[in-house]
Amino acid sequence: MQDDLNRFPRRNLRRDLRRNGNLAIRSEFASFRRLRAIMSLMRIVVLVGLPGSGKSTWLARTGAGGLSSDVIRGLLADDEGDQTVNRRVFQTLRYLLKQRLQIGRPETTIDATNLTPAERAPYIAIGKRYGCEIEAVFFDVPLDVCRERNRRRNRAVPEGAMTKMARKLAAPAVDEGFSRVTVITEPHP
Ligand code: GDP
Ligand code: MG
Repeated sequence: MQDDLNRFPRRNLRRDLRRNGNLAIRSEFASFRRLRAIMSLMRIVVLVGLPGSGKSTWLARTGAGGLSSDVIRGLLADDEGDQTVNRRVFQTLRYLLKQRLQIGRPETTIDATNLTPAERAPYIAIGKRYGCEIEAVFFDVPLDVCRERNRRRNRAVPEGAMTKMARKLAAPAVDEGFSRVTVITEPHP
């Protein structure tokens, strides 16, 4: 037994542990602790509003990290308006959200219309799984204002789709699982 131990290259083992194992273990612990600390502060902000209600403009002003369904549509289908790939778009969005939470990004905003509780529920479920704060920001802007802004855009949502979405829109509520709902009614001039 003793012979076996003596044959074991202890110096090398120590050196290797010091160089790799120990350091790796220590840094694993450090990053785990950092991750735990960050996790307790991580936040998901779910934007809710019709096309043209000002979601992306608001997000750009906050400078926070966001995942936009339009941008993902563009990445997947080379067309931000392609509605035929929506299932993949939202799968990708959820995948990216989870990746962001796993690397401890403190804040992720979901920039999509998120019109109904059913559409918002996956973010609340993911947020709970990762111990995040989950908030909603509701752009309560009259349909006519959204229509007008939408018309002036390069990539306008068809009028019919705007009407359908307005019918579908349900204001987010705390009882869906949000810790806070902020309502934005006063757009900037
Ligand atoms: P989203 O579809 O909800 O993301 O809306 P956007 O942020 O893309 O805004 C739609 C259009 O409305 C853009 O041309 C913006 O420049 C404009 N817009 C956004 N917010 C405001 C606002 O508060 N006031 C005014 N006047 N225009 C805005
Ligand atoms: Mg937008």
